[in-house]
Amino acid sequence: MNPSTECIDCKACMKGCLMMGEFTDSPKTLLETIKESPASVAFSCAACGYCAHVCPKDISIEAHFVKRKVELAPTELKNFGYRAVLFHQVLSFSKALTTIKTFRATDFSHMAFMPGCALSSYSPALVKSIIAHLQEACPGMSVLMQCCGKPTRVLGDIDRFEGFYSLLERDIDRLGVTTVVTACENCYMSLKTLSPQVKTLSLYKLLAQIGVPQRDFSEAKPVALHDPCPTRLEKPLHEAVRQILRTIKLPFEEFKFNRDKTQCCGSGGMLALTNPKLAREQMVSRAHQTECETIVSYCQECCSSMSRGGKNGVHLLDLLFDETVAKTLTQPKHGTLTSWINRYKTKRMIASLKG
Ligand code: SF4
Ligand code: SF4
Repeated sequence: MNPSTECIDCKACMKGCLMMGEFTDSPKTLLETIKESPASVAFSCAACGYCAHVCPKDISIEAHFVKRKVELAPTELKNFGYRAVLFHQVLSFSKALTTIKTFRATDFSHMAFMPGCALSSYSPALVKSIIAHLQEACPGMSVLMQCCGKPTRVLGDIDRFEGFYSLLERDIDRLGVTTVVTACENCYMSLKTLSPQVKTLSLYKLLAQIGVPQRDFSEAKPVALHDPCPTRLEKPLHEAVRQILRTIKLPFEEFKFNRDKTQCCGSGGMLALTNPKLAREQMVSRAHQTECETIVSYCQECCSSMSRGGKNGVHLLDLLFDETVAKTLTQPKHGTLTSWINRYKTKRMIASLKG
């Protein structure tokens, strides 16, 4: 069935979509013309999943854009700064920035913690504190420092993505684990959908079960809680995060568009690369949907986006595991070079942990 025939043009999908208003006032027309539309249309989709979730006809406009991106990738990606993405991915999967670590204790050796690229680039010290906490509660949990390859997948370069992703699966095999614990929501969704041979467990669900370091933020000003869009359908994960916030007594407010109706932070779909103007507008728009100055999230990309949008983005993990950020409620800011150096330091730190 042609999706444009099914579409009743109710425009429900447009209400939470950052890009459709830029290109059309009719989703039905957009669907009818998608095959002839310029590359800039498909590559402006943030892959946030809002359209499919709210559509009364179960149409996923995102899925049509994914198909279009795959068709266009061989000829069009070069026009969207793709060389930088490839450079990023080759480095991300290189020996310099990846490692696996096992420990002598065997109680939880069937599990591995995967911090993900964004957190590793942000703070090696934070990753170290999380690993120490996990080793206390779950001795022997391995560490898997690898990338999930989302940048190549989301841009439609499927051949390259499959090559990269096989390196992650190789490392999972090497560790012999049956459960991967993810700190990053993109890693979580990649593994959950593409690696059914392992159980994917969100770090936040695990922390809600094993407990978090003692904190008391009852004197802090209220913050807003932003749910990352890959978690849209993950109700137990939403609950776990809120449970942790209540445990540390942090006063928090909900966005009007939260949980399954959450909106993209502006970084989804590599939008900052493919349509930087739209990405910036969405960062500002989302950040200003709350009166709160500080926005807490559980994805480092979302936190950075909220800061770039003019508010103060702070990671939930900062509050739990970084004494300085927990006191100041301000993340340290650093540029691209420092991020790469941090990733290298994270790798060295993990490799040097006592087994
Ligand atoms: S996935 Fe998000 S950005 Fe893409 S079309 Fe759907 S609602 Fe819009
Ligand atoms: S929500 Fe679904 S039916 Fe309504 S306009 Fe969007 S695609 Fe069409």
